[in-house]
Amino acid sequence: MKILVAKFQLESNEHVPMKTDLEHTALSFGRAALDHMQLGNVFDAPDIELIPVLCADAACSGVMKKNAFLYLENRILDTIKEHIHDLDGIYFHLHGASEIEDLGSGEHHLVAEVRKIVGPYLPVAVSCDPHGNLCKSYVENCTILRSYRESPHTDIAETVQFVASNLIELIRNRRHITPVYQKLPLILGGEQSVSTDEPIASFNKWLNEAEKDERILSISWHVGYLRHDTECAGCGIVVVPNDNKYRSYAEELCQKASTAIWNRRKEFHYTGLTMNPNEALQAALQFSDKPVFITDSGDNVTSGAMGANTFILHQFLTVSNLNKKVLFAAIHCPETCHMLMNKNVNDKVHISLGMGIDELTKKAELDVTILHKGRQEGTKMYGEEGDYGPLITVSVDYLPIDIAITDNNHSFVEKHQIDACGVDWDDYDIIVVKQGYIHPEEKEKGKLCIMSLTNGATPQDTRLINFKRIMRPMYPIDEI
Ligand SMILES: [Zn+2]
Repeated sequence: MKILVAKFQLESNEHVPMKTDLEHTALSFGRAALDHMQLGNVFDAPDIELIPVLCADAACSGVMKKNAFLYLENRILDTIKEHIHDLDGIYFHLHGASEIEDLGSGEHHLVAEVRKIVGPYLPVAVSCDPHGNLCKSYVENCTILRSYRESPHTDIAETVQFVASNLIELIRNRRHITPVYQKLPLILGGEQSVSTDEPIASFNKWLNEAEKDERILSISWHVGYLRHDTECAGCGIVVVPNDNKYRSYAEELCQKASTAIWNRRKEFHYTGLTMNPNEALQAALQFSDKPVFITDSGDNVTSGAMGANTFILHQFLTVSNLNKKVLFAAIHCPETCHMLMNKNVNDKVHISLGMGIDELTKKAELDVTILHKGRQEGTKMYGEEGDYGPLITVSVDYLPIDIAITDNNHSFVEKHQIDACGVDWDDYDIIVVKQGYIHPEEKEKGKLCIMSLTNGATPQDTRLINFKRIMRPMYPIDEI
């Protein structure tokens, strides 16, 4: 059997000024793309031939330029046309939260274009992030659609391989399958739906049980994404029947799952400790053990923010007699990063750190010494491999503050990324990271983790976001 595979990842935050282009996208083509797909050995069978097209990973970023997206989409569509006469199925690893200039959702557009070529019956299987937005036609254009269960996403490889092996099974035993979708009038931020916390933890257990039923191929919960205004925003449930003869059972199950979530809508809450920025600063300064992690939740790069805000840095710079050792991992400032790349370790330099676009990215004038020059070598958690650009760590003269500076908004969610800054995290009392909820390795390390409710492109209070196009009424924006 011949299976075409491709991966496209983008979470589009429309509140960042940058438009995503191909140079912001980690690209690989053909067999090299397979190295980034976490497929394991599911496709290793003598009768399976893969047609890998591309892996395009723009992670969390702004709205994508139309021409950049159409280039990627056309590569996929052209390869489908080339192999149309002997193609048995298509496997996509998509995110679900892309937004393309003039097109809307890239994923919805891609799958609709694929159906125009292959017709309604060829199996198209999609594994995806739960933070994607769905609509009925997108779901029904897929044959299998299943999201990761866990947030933070510790089960990407498992989900990818689950979907891929079900696609193989379906090609071996062809049935007609149309997934069932139900949208909920509920909009949630990622920070309110951590899967180790309730109500998601017990709901996920329920989904795992429901998925054991032979009439069901998969059932998944989709949190949705609220960083761009779209009619597709909001939570949803997708149930894939094992055969369309079980579709009425799938509809019943979908209704049951939707009701279960809806009845617990008031229980969604921020996971962990949240404080306004001043309280967060004081709590971190007064804490006697170490390290304390502070997450700059308004500038959360894992939700598409630029990671360029200097607000918390300015908070620390105004603390008199700062006697805690502080690390910022990291601050995104291309100009400063590139200037420092031409200097040597131990050089003393004056920097104006911050993009200076607005009050939140206000420049900080600092005399620093260069501690370390390194590279960002990817985050295993998101299945990223490779080099994500330069990383310069500086130490602020006469203050116990070290700052890692990058030229992009790659997230620092794992210990090896802090190691790449050329520092030892055990040396710090306080580590400031650009996340919302704290990621697992840092959570385990932190004696105290505080989500600072800062302003920025990823504000945490859903009710403050100025939506115009979403379905109404929608909880908690409307009291229903
Ligand atoms: Zn996600």
